[in-house]
Amino acid sequence: MAVRVHQTIKYEAEADPTFAPRIKEKRGCEKLEACIQCGTCSGVCPLSIYMDHTPRQVILLTRSGFRDEILKSNTIWLCASCYECTVSCPKDIRITDIIYSLKQEAIQARAYPRRFPIPVLAREFYKMVRDFGRTTESFLVVKLLMKTNILAGLKMWKLGLQLVTSGRFGFTPESIKNRRQLQQILDRVGDDNGKNGGPKK
Ligand code: SF4
Ligand code: SF4
Repeated sequence: MAVRVHQTIKYEAEADPTFAPRIKEKRGCEKLEACIQCGTCSGVCPLSIYMDHTPRQVILLTRSGFRDEILKSNTIWLCASCYECTVSCPKDIRITDIIYSLKQEAIQARAYPRRFPIPVLAREFYKMVRDFGRTTESFLVVKLLMKTNILAGLKMWKLGLQLVTSGRFGFTPESIKNRRQLQQILDRVGDDNGKNGGPKK
């Protein structure tokens, strides 16, 4: 039987020395270096058993500069933003905010599996809110399925039909007044966060 050998040790030379300083500049991530690796965050996280890197490891890998490892990790997508880790951390590290920032980095770098639905949904949701001020669920679902798994969408045609006939799914785009104002606000936030990896268009 063939034995597959994987490298399990990470070498400092593989790290990106600019990664941790860049993450630390982002809002809520300032205390990244204060971690004492106590593991409380991993212990309280309800989803850590499903994560390839626990929250404690996420902090360690991030501050050590292992950018690729962390941006490809499933942890940043599994995090449910429950803030349990953040309220329990003895060093007041905002782990949830750090994970948000890593998610933004991964979206910008497109460092996630092709057709992976969560970042696609996040991007399409933001685009729709920016363009219309509201989301129209039917359009959002169609866009998501087209960009991820159209076959799965076609298999759900019965459910789609029920949602349309029961009036749960409409095909009239919902919109707010003064959309331009909202776009200006979001652009300002994006510019401000641009340095911090914010929601750029
Ligand atoms: S709880 Fe806080 S100090 Fe402890 S490992 Fe997690 S981030 Fe580090
Ligand atoms: S915020 Fe995310 S990482 Fe923290 S405990 Fe909740 S699911 Fe786990």
